[in-house]
Amino acid sequence: MQESIVVLGSTGSIGVNTLQVASKFNIPIEALVGGRNLALLGEQIARHKPKYVAIADAKDRDSIDHPEVLCGAEGILELLERTQSKRVVNALVGYAGLAPTLRAIELGKRVALANKESLVVAGEFIDMKQITPIDSEHFGLWYLLGDRPFHKLYITASGGAFRDWERDAIATASFEDALRHPNWSMGNKITIDSATMTNKLFEILEAKWLFGSSDIDAVIERRSIIHALAQFKDGSTTAHFASADMKLPIAFALQGSITEEILPPLDLLELGEMRFETITSDKYPIWQIKEHLLQNPHLGVVVNAANEEAIKRFESGKNSFFGIADQVLDAYSCFGNHHAKSIDDIITIDKEVRAYVCK
Ligand code: NDP
Repeated sequence: MQESIVVLGSTGSIGVNTLQVASKFNIPIEALVGGRNLALLGEQIARHKPKYVAIADAKDRDSIDHPEVLCGAEGILELLERTQSKRVVNALVGYAGLAPTLRAIELGKRVALANKESLVVAGEFIDMKQITPIDSEHFGLWYLLGDRPFHKLYITASGGAFRDWERDAIATASFEDALRHPNWSMGNKITIDSATMTNKLFEILEAKWLFGSSDIDAVIERRSIIHALAQFKDGSTTAHFASADMKLPIAFALQGSITEEILPPLDLLELGEMRFETITSDKYPIWQIKEHLLQNPHLGVVVNAANEEAIKRFESGKNSFFGIADQVLDAYSCFGNHHAKSIDDIITIDKEVRAYVCK
């Protein structure tokens, strides 16, 4: 009998894939956490029969057919306390995922972490031994790295929705335009972060915490078939190829090792030529802080808070697309002297940055 898991964010893109992988390996689901997609959560409850459920808003409680429904941010933490499972998949989106990551670790649970914002915001305060990342690039790096000393690690970016757009057209692009990702089907927030390249900035920070190195960079690989490359001190470079499908990293995060087919193998002759491109600050203005942020990873909390608020403003029409990066870069220079000494400081800085961006 497989050990059970808790799935936070079960109704999202990663959550749905996680439940499919869990079903494939007969992994019992002890608890499910969803937000506002109550119809899908209802189907998941009927199918997986979790002991506990949590939802975002108490006013929706009566719409859920389950005897143990907890609500709100506190409800998620209480759910973690009640559960016996030793493993939690955190597929919540944004800053809301941080507190559950911290609480799960405090409770001695391992976290299969899709919520990269947890590491971006508070990597300094998180025990990496308790984390298995669910991100295709970090999975790729893990797959490539053995004990050999490496010179540099690379992750790849698709370039997002506007990679082939002229700068002038991007300047007037809509929220819906930014959601048209060329390769991946993902939640809205990460899709916007892919268009601005903030997602790759976050992944570089994530890699820094996970692999303990600042020798990390990113390049554009348009097809999202190569996810990561490792350059070793001996001069050789290895690359991780796989289809753009999160079930592979999720399967490894849940099972540890895999001996059966999760994705069909790539047809090498179909791949044709390989090409890597530079990420430029002209098209992706956020990229200008990449090196500084790598050297000052404690500023991730500033970037994340400003980014979340600036995206909301873009969605509501108060910001242009480039306005997102403008607001993040402005907050980054304004809050550059902040260095949190504790999680309480992180919470304070997060609030201050949000207030500054929304003023
Ligand atoms: P989605 O937006 O698709 O899913 C987010 C999930 O969180 C949904 O289940 C949503 O519920 C739930 N949720 C949001 N707010 C709350 C809340 N306040 N209380 C309870 N539940 C809440 O996002 P993704 O699955 O795309 O991404 C999740 C995380 O994984 C992000 O951090 C992302 O960066 C990361 N990631 C995603 C990848 C992908 O391929 N999608 C790849 C690698 C990492 P509901 O929908 O019911 O409102």
